[in-house]
Amino acid sequence: MNRSVPEIFAENVFSDEVMKSRLPKNVYKTFMNTVQNGRQLDMTTADFVANAMKEWAVEKGATHYTHWFQPLTGSTAEKHDSFITPASKGMAIMEFSGKSLVKGEPDASSFPSGGLRQTSSARGYTAWDPTSYCFVKEGSLYIPTVFLSYTGETLDKKTPLLRSMDALSSSAVKFLKLFGNENVTRVTSTVGAEQEYFLIDKGMYDKRKDLILTGRTLFGAKPPKGQELDDQYFANLRPRIAGYMADLDEELWKLGIYSKTKHNEVAPAQHEMAPIFTTSNLGTDQNELAMEVMEKVALKHNLVCLLHEKPFEGVNGSGKHNNWSMATNDGQNLLDPGDTPMENLQFLTILCALIKGIDEYADLMRISASSAGNDHRLGADEAPPAIVSMFLGEELDAVLKAIEEDSVYKTETRAFEIGVNALPSFPKDSTDRNRTSPFAFTGNRFEFRMVGSSDNIACPNALLNTIVAEELSQFTEILEPFSHTEQFESEVKKLMKNVLRDHRRIIFNGDGYSAEWVEEAERRGLPNYSSTVDSLPHYTDEKNLRIFKKFGIYTENELKARQEVLLEKYSKTIRIEARTMIQMARKQLLPATLDYIHKLCEAVAVKKQIGILAKVEQAMAEKLTDLTEAFYVSIEKLESLVNQACEIKEILPQARFFHDEVLTEMERMRTISDTTERIMPSDKWPIPDYSAMIYNV
Ligand code: ADP
Ligand code: MG
Repeated sequence: MNRSVPEIFAENVFSDEVMKSRLPKNVYKTFMNTVQNGRQLDMTTADFVANAMKEWAVEKGATHYTHWFQPLTGSTAEKHDSFITPASKGMAIMEFSGKSLVKGEPDASSFPSGGLRQTSSARGYTAWDPTSYCFVKEGSLYIPTVFLSYTGETLDKKTPLLRSMDALSSSAVKFLKLFGNENVTRVTSTVGAEQEYFLIDKGMYDKRKDLILTGRTLFGAKPPKGQELDDQYFANLRPRIAGYMADLDEELWKLGIYSKTKHNEVAPAQHEMAPIFTTSNLGTDQNELAMEVMEKVALKHNLVCLLHEKPFEGVNGSGKHNNWSMATNDGQNLLDPGDTPMENLQFLTILCALIKGIDEYADLMRISASSAGNDHRLGADEAPPAIVSMFLGEELDAVLKAIEEDSVYKTETRAFEIGVNALPSFPKDSTDRNRTSPFAFTGNRFEFRMVGSSDNIACPNALLNTIVAEELSQFTEILEPFSHTEQFESEVKKLMKNVLRDHRRIIFNGDGYSAEWVEEAERRGLPNYSSTVDSLPHYTDEKNLRIFKKFGIYTENELKARQEVLLEKYSKTIRIEARTMIQMARKQLLPATLDYIHKLCEAVAVKKQIGILAKVEQAMAEKLTDLTEAFYVSIEKLESLVNQACEIKEILPQARFFHDEVLTEMERMRTISDTTERIMPSDKWPIPDYSAMIYNV
């Protein structure tokens, strides 16, 4: 890198700084005011901003602009228009109006809507979200937008997130007033998403149809060495990887993404990038952007970046640890235990709100991490289990126990002064680490670890925000009558005691990977939805619908539509995987094995002519013949099951069939193939094996 980091940082972002330097003072002020107060932007201001943006973007080499949005497909969408406008004498000038900045009208008919958009009104529109940043990339000005149907129903992932941020803010502001925070006018949820990924050689990738079409290997015997030596986690970076990461950092920094941490992860060929946290809104956009950049930078190094949750069976899958907290506009982190007893009281109450919320809406948290890809990861022995529970750490747990039992909290190592009415204060750095918990307190934030590596983080954050908005508003209702009275503190304590009595079951500080936990969780009555088809039907449960309606996150129609889209996506994913397997089996694996059997048989015949017994060839030919017969039966069966699945008209039964029947047969087929692969000579196996793919970079 020739230039310093501060020099390149955010050079391609239309940041506050740039805006301030390029807009007339009063326009900048009006703009900031409207954004901060969530008001509608007037057209004169919009025109000013659009023009300044265009001039800046053109200087950066942009010729086009695009509204950039996050439809329910799971990837981002863009449609580029040039700034070009005809001028007199056949000439052209570059123009960009406030109207084009604020609103776009892409044809919505090809995006999934779950039946929200009638065919007669295919139109949807995109609306600029000025709380995120515009940026220049590959010759275009990118404008972050939300995507709605013409009748105002949400068709994207960002709208519910923005709605939930507003809901959380208004609940939290009211709640904080009770604790003397009169100056807080806005509470923002924050997120830092640790992104895991695999890197493999492009040459290997190109030879694997399964990776190309589905993002994961559908066949492949486990290599002799997996991750059992624990020699990859935090290991020194091999030159090719280091080169990739350096390049990646530079590209992310230019886009204003605070890429902070990089290291090797647990599985061979697995790595992680973690940015510094920011608002959930910007964090979501930046994570989507980061994933795109990761893939593109990899290609420059002749590598492929795999973002799938489980590219390789038998080694760890990839997740996206979603670090979540709430920040006030006067600079408090609401999950930071404070220095004063009153701050501690506020913190502990918020903690109780989370305990109650996660217990009551564990299903929603599970749903927010549900996808066909993530099903291979959740509940596998390296990832969080599919059961949602909370980890608080021993110390904090003991503090809560003391509250529950009206006792005084003491530890040997430190003396604790008694705070408000016998509420203990406690050290801030009191968290130990538990890597097996899906929802862990890590000192000043919660880390939600179920999210899949390829998932958009808008959904988990929207659901979490909504849940907390609900609990804080309930708490406010209970505590408000006692506000500014002497009873306040004892009422808070009473509330906490009640919550802990009713919701303690969600707290689990033990080993989330153990079999005992599954049984224990069942005794506690915690839901255990082991797959997407088990979890998604609960999206529209009455209690969930109620909070979504209450805070204006989803209407019933919107939620049902979303559920449908997700279930359909599940079925389509499995269908593509099954068909890819069938194709690879018929066109590559089966012919290769039959060829080899033929060679063995020839050897048997030749040896027989000269009177030698071909014992080994004979045995291998027999064994492989048995395997190919079973393999062939499985191919035929899988094909007929896929056809049967496609006949099912109803969405949920279809998804269930794909899960119960199709996926099960896919697994059976894979086992046969992997056994075959172990016997076959390397040069006769038509696709790169696991060792070649994960130990070659
Ligand atoms: P670890 O691997 O120990 O979990 P990392 O440093 O890899 O830690 O990641 C921690 C993530 O948590 C970072 O993205 C960091 O910015 C984020 N984070 C820290 N504080 C907050 C907060 N208040 N709100 C949201 N995210 C946070
Ligand atoms: Mg982490």
